[in-house]
Amino acid sequence: MNIVILGAGLMGRLLACELARAGHTVDVFDAAGPQALNSAARAAAAMLAPLAESAVAEDSVVNMGQYGLSRWPELLSHLKQPVYFQQQGTLVVWHRQDQAEATRFTHQLQATHTRLPGLPTLQVLDAQAMALLEPGLAERFSQGLYLPGEGQLDNHQLLDALLLAMQQHPSVSLHWDSPRQPDDFAAGTSGQPNSTDWLLDCRGLGAQAQWPQVRGVRGEVALLHAPNVRLSRPTRLIHPRYPIYIAPKENGLFKIGATEIESDDVSPVSVRSCLELLSAAYTVDPGFGEARILELVAQCRPTLPNNLPTVRRLGARCLQVNGLYRHGYLIAPAMVDVVLQLMQGADSTLANQFEVSVSDTDTPDPKP
Ligand SMILES: Cc1cc2nc3c(=O)[nH]c(=O)nc-3n(C[C@H](O)[C@H](O)[C@H](O)COP(=O)(O)OP(=O)(O)OC[C@H]3O[C@@H](n4cnc5c(N)ncnc54)[C@H](O)[C@@H]3O)c2cc1C
Repeated sequence: MNIVILGAGLMGRLLACELARAGHTVDVFDAAGPQALNSAARAAAAMLAPLAESAVAEDSVVNMGQYGLSRWPELLSHLKQPVYFQQQGTLVVWHRQDQAEATRFTHQLQATHTRLPGLPTLQVLDAQAMALLEPGLAERFSQGLYLPGEGQLDNHQLLDALLLAMQQHPSVSLHWDSPRQPDDFAAGTSGQPNSTDWLLDCRGLGAQAQWPQVRGVRGEVALLHAPNVRLSRPTRLIHPRYPIYIAPKENGLFKIGATEIESDDVSPVSVRSCLELLSAAYTVDPGFGEARILELVAQCRPTLPNNLPTVRRLGARCLQVNGLYRHGYLIAPAMVDVVLQLMQGADSTLANQFEVSVSDTDTPDPKP
């Protein structure tokens, strides 16, 4: 089949590679260039933390995340360029004065576990267990939580590896700096690839003009080089005002994030957010004091009113995929497989399993 994909962020790249591998011809259009600088995918920390996210996400997202954790290694194995993928769990810490917040968080996760007993069991760490798990933090934190099995990947490496795979595949054509909308490919429209069998709209926030319910949730992150910080797994700091995560990548790199602001604003990171993120990181490990700031990035998470991912049919052979919100990396493998199933038949067992809404355009969007 001839397939057109709008948007070469996270979903667009993954779908292009999977569909090309399955033998289809794929044309990818993106409003920006190959580095995906305008995508949420580029800004993200790419943590894969279903249980940790259950404090703010529906069970369906948690279930998709568990599916994603086992599916990512397979998706990555098809790429020629290596992508850092780690599954050494998530550590959660807090300062003594924030104990009440930590207790609330622990109860939330325990409740998730009661509803979804298949998840790995949450472990409460004392000083000794903390010292064994993350010796670099043992001096400052004598208690914590450990969420085994959770993961992360390096999103810059992933986007680069997917780009290379698309560039090297003979049946993928890439069109950069080429903003498009689904109407551009309506029957009889000139200047576009002939006989489009399927159109997949993966434009994230870029779909707003045709899908007004899509909104942005601004997130700001810092990329640091901190070779003196010894932290081996994603670590979350519980804090009533500045909850942050620190995601250690390869070669002494750390992503510190992220703010969450209801806004479509993608202007540069504010001084306040920068101070809050970096100060909070410094309280976790003073080694960040000597870190070098490589990037300060702001982007918007594409989000629908109910904060859940949705597939929308725009005609018989056009699917719009959106609303991946703050869980894009966590749930992308599930969403890719849902879309592939929908392209094969009218229904998707995975969409049913994960309660992914598959609606027609005349169906009103779900209420928040
Ligand atoms: C700060 C931040 C931190 C995050 N951290 C995490 C995390 O730790 N874990 C996690 O799972 N998720 C995280 N996310 C969420 C994740 O990044 C998003 O859910 C995901 O990238 C959404 O994927 P997408 O393909 O729908 O959109 P995007 O990745 O935004 O891609 C959309 C693409 O469409 C293109 N486009 C726009 N308009 C047009 C047009 N008219 N024509 C053609 N192309 C167009 C854009 O240029 C872009 O390349 C984070 C997001 C942010 C912003």
